[in-house]
Amino acid sequence: MTTDDLLARHRAVLPSWMALYYDEPMEIVSGSGRRVTASDGRTYLDLFAGILTNGIGYDLPEISDAVRSQVDTGVLHTSTLYLIRKQVELAEKIAALSGIDDAKVFFTCSGTEANEAALLLATEYRRSSQVLAMRNSFHGRGFASMAVTGNRGWSASALSPLQVHYVHGGYRYRSPFRHLSDADYVQACVDDLVDVLDTATAGDVACMIAEPIQGVGGFAHGPDGLFGAFAKELSQRGILLIADEVQTGWGRTGEHFWGIQAHGVVPDAMTFAKGLGNGLTIGGVVARAGLMDCLQANSISTFGGNPLSTAGAHAALTYLLDHDLQANCAARGDELFAGLRALDLPVVGDVRGKGLMIGIELVGPGGEPNAPAAALALQRARENGILIGKGGLYGNVLRIAPPMTLTADEAAEGLAALTATLRSVQAEVTPTP
Ligand code: PMP
Repeated sequence: MTTDDLLARHRAVLPSWMALYYDEPMEIVSGSGRRVTASDGRTYLDLFAGILTNGIGYDLPEISDAVRSQVDTGVLHTSTLYLIRKQVELAEKIAALSGIDDAKVFFTCSGTEANEAALLLATEYRRSSQVLAMRNSFHGRGFASMAVTGNRGWSASALSPLQVHYVHGGYRYRSPFRHLSDADYVQACVDDLVDVLDTATAGDVACMIAEPIQGVGGFAHGPDGLFGAFAKELSQRGILLIADEVQTGWGRTGEHFWGIQAHGVVPDAMTFAKGLGNGLTIGGVVARAGLMDCLQANSISTFGGNPLSTAGAHAALTYLLDHDLQANCAARGDELFAGLRALDLPVVGDVRGKGLMIGIELVGPGGEPNAPAAALALQRARENGILIGKGGLYGNVLRIAPPMTLTADEAAEGLAALTATLRSVQAEVTPTP
């Protein structure tokens, strides 16, 4: 069967709203290290890691062997009604790493379910269905997680059991406060938050949910300390803070293990998924015990925390800690940021992010979002041998988030390919006189 046949069958039987990358979509057929081979016969340096799911890279013996030894038992999974050794060991590790006192962990199969669970806990604990979220955020596809998604392109339904209020702060580049100093920007966002709490709510808000760096929103963020300043206002009112670490966790930002740590605050709960399983389906919530244990009724996930995913995730977490991949994210990130910031091309409006989470916002002559340039860049990047991502409220941001094991040579190779890509996009979008 050719890729074209597969594409036709995909289009016939899968939903129209499941977007595929590229005019000629590819099937990834194998991977090794930071490279994947696709159905077009080419091998690419992967600078997007499958939307950060392959946090470590491909075909790593430590992880494959851990999964294989579970496969060899003959039991892929039965049910979470039975004890699962690796589930307990992984929960202990994550609880200890969370920085949350007396932490407990609930495992899910995805980031969406993790956020649904966290929002369920917070709204139940506070007996309120009012929630604060950030503009330009993305938290998933469920009824609660989509309701707190402040990005029109990903909010397919306006129907939700939650009453959500969106606040400023996460997307500084296009914020009305963007020209302010860091301190004044933070104060303006806090004033906005207080205004929303005092004027748009009955004051009994359950929680705020926020991404420390907005992933789907184009790796956008505010200054360090923003969420610490928010937390002061929230905690005075008993409002809980949930950090969505689905993209920012596990050291990817280089400076910290969790993205929220840049803000000097320990949240009441964090959600995670993507990179933890290095491709296996796993997500979860880590929260202080009082919050986690607030549900009175039973609630299990049939597959959340299954032996296969937890074996792989436990091996992945062990690997990333043993090899200090957080430090590698910082070092490789510095190299990529330095090279990209030196480019000085008019089509590049902003280069932002942290560590190996780099957003490149493409703009038109008046600074307006340039989505066609981003679509072109994705294609040119493929031609130049690299896989990158796209995102942002306007679809005009390139997202660079390679596996956290990226080597210095690969960073240099990636930078050269990105440079060639951006230069050719600049030449193609500039009208010839
Ligand atoms: N939260 C964030 C910050 C995400 O980036 C995503 C996925 N893009 C999700 C939640 C949802 O995760 P999943 O697709 O695994 O349900």
